[in-house]
Amino acid sequence: MFPVIDFHCDLLSYLVNVPGADALNSEAIGCALPNLKAGDVKLQVLAVFTATNAGSVENASKQFDAYEQLCTNYKDWVYDAAKDLKIKNNDKTALVPAIENASGILEEDEPLDLCFERLDAILNRFNRLLYITITHHTENRFGGGNFSDKGLKDDGKQLLKYLDGKQIAVDLSHTSDLMAFDILNTIDQSKLDIPIIASHSNMRAICDHPRNLPDELIEELKRRNGFAGVNFVRAFLDNDNDKVIYDHIAYAKDKNLPLVFGADFFSTSQLNDPARIPYFFKSLSNAGQYPHILEEMQDREFTEEDCYQLAFDNASKWLVSQGFVFE
Ligand SMILES: [Zn+2]
Repeated sequence: MFPVIDFHCDLLSYLVNVPGADALNSEAIGCALPNLKAGDVKLQVLAVFTATNAGSVENASKQFDAYEQLCTNYKDWVYDAAKDLKIKNNDKTALVPAIENASGILEEDEPLDLCFERLDAILNRFNRLLYITITHHTENRFGGGNFSDKGLKDDGKQLLKYLDGKQIAVDLSHTSDLMAFDILNTIDQSKLDIPIIASHSNMRAICDHPRNLPDELIEELKRRNGFAGVNFVRAFLDNDNDKVIYDHIAYAKDKNLPLVFGADFFSTSQLNDPARIPYFFKSLSNAGQYPHILEEMQDREFTEEDCYQLAFDNASKWLVSQGFVFE
């Protein structure tokens, strides 16, 4: 019905960390390649996700290798769009890499210079990194994650200075509120040229969770030509009712916040937090369901234009502003 662009999934982490992982196993992870095809996903951002712990850099490096192998070994399904920034109008899914947690490029006890050497090497190898989510749930050397109350640290400031003018967005999806505002203030004070997004975050006014965006950050995203990606994880939508996803979408529309998909599909096979099982509602558990979601939007208060903006248009306009070309 509508072509789709999605800004966040953890396919690479699944491929590297789950024994027997298979990119074509549509039951094992919501963003398996057949699901992306079924959902008419024209572009999928693949995050290199690591937690903050020893071995994070090695694990991230394996995920970058997995990105390259996907593009080489699954040519019938996907292609790399980071090299030439061209998104083709065909039945394959364009891929672009991103980093979720800067611990993947620098461990807690390493010299800071290594971080920039590694980023230079990543840019040399892949040409483009779409965004960096600087922290994850916890605090790291760069600043405070969404479950911490810490702000931006000195290493985080140095990282922002490195990112100036490099067309790598900073993703606020896993910052503490303090960290988010510290990042924005540093960008303003030092006049840094860094795009700001929230790749996979819902609305805190609808679901009061630290992973979701407070109204003040919604205003900042709008002011800075950013967007938010609607997240399908049950804990960030509503623990009981899958239909609350439409309330998040409606709230963003009321606030004039450009919304895209950032479904956040990950493998749940190694996760066992009883409070979070199931991690996804069945109706929102794989990329093949985008068309049904967009249909249901039209059965509700949304227009066809609203659906097109969410599925594709908001994302494609932002990508064009970042130098991508839609052919
Ligand atoms: Zn995440």
